[in-house]
Amino acid sequence: MEVTRRQTKSIRIVVEPPEGRVRVSAPRQLGDLALGVAIQRRLGWIRKHRTRMAAMDRSPCLGYVDGERLRWLGLEVELRVVPGGRGAKARLLEDDRIIELRVGKGCSLEGKAAAIGKCYRTALKGLLPELAEKWEAVLGVKVWELRIKTMRTRWGSCNTKVRRIWLNLELARRPFACLEYVLVHEMAHLIERGHGPAFKAILDRCLPEWRTAKKLLGAEGHRAQGSPLHGAAGDKVQSPLNSWNPVHLRKRGRSQGS
Ligand SMILES: [Zn+2]
Repeated sequence: MEVTRRQTKSIRIVVEPPEGRVRVSAPRQLGDLALGVAIQRRLGWIRKHRTRMAAMDRSPCLGYVDGERLRWLGLEVELRVVPGGRGAKARLLEDDRIIELRVGKGCSLEGKAAAIGKCYRTALKGLLPELAEKWEAVLGVKVWELRIKTMRTRWGSCNTKVRRIWLNLELARRPFACLEYVLVHEMAHLIERGHGPAFKAILDRCLPEWRTAKKLLGAEGHRAQGSPLHGAAGDKVQSPLNSWNPVHLRKRGRSQGS
């Protein structure tokens, strides 16, 4: 945990991807004790976001060797490495049970990873239009643009003004139910901006099993409306707790790997 003093009126806590480093900026005039209390009150929030971040970054360390097991929509697929060509190219084969990776001589691990990513992107792109169409009919909304990219802190995002939805490429590895949940979640924002009761009611009505999918994802999904997961948690300090010990808190922070 890193604490910075600033000319500011409020405490700002940020959990940074990918490791979940915690940065705190606090008003210069605020006492250590009061700051400690404020941080302690946000510990639940900090833990939640760190857990979420850890869940996001579960991409396995792969060597991209022949016979290796990869995941596509939560299912195991076998990697078949075929030498030839230049660079690396990958495609899904045999009813999505095999990913063929064609690699040229001296192709780097990054090159192979990029080829697999491209393969996932193409495959996702192939199934998204139909899926979106299905949910457009159910929800009664129109998505103008549906795009995929790698995101470190969100599973999806929705720009309601231009009706553009971004989905995290990492969803290619997660079970299909997760992909569907994130898509429906984002599309539901075209009806309801926040995550309040009205929003949940939409999900309950259209995708009753959304809570299971969300749990499976190991994350809430994201925060829509431009507020990333690692966004600030503003907190006003109230009633300092005298028994609190800032040193103790710092130790706890470290033991959690911050
Ligand atoms: Zn949302």
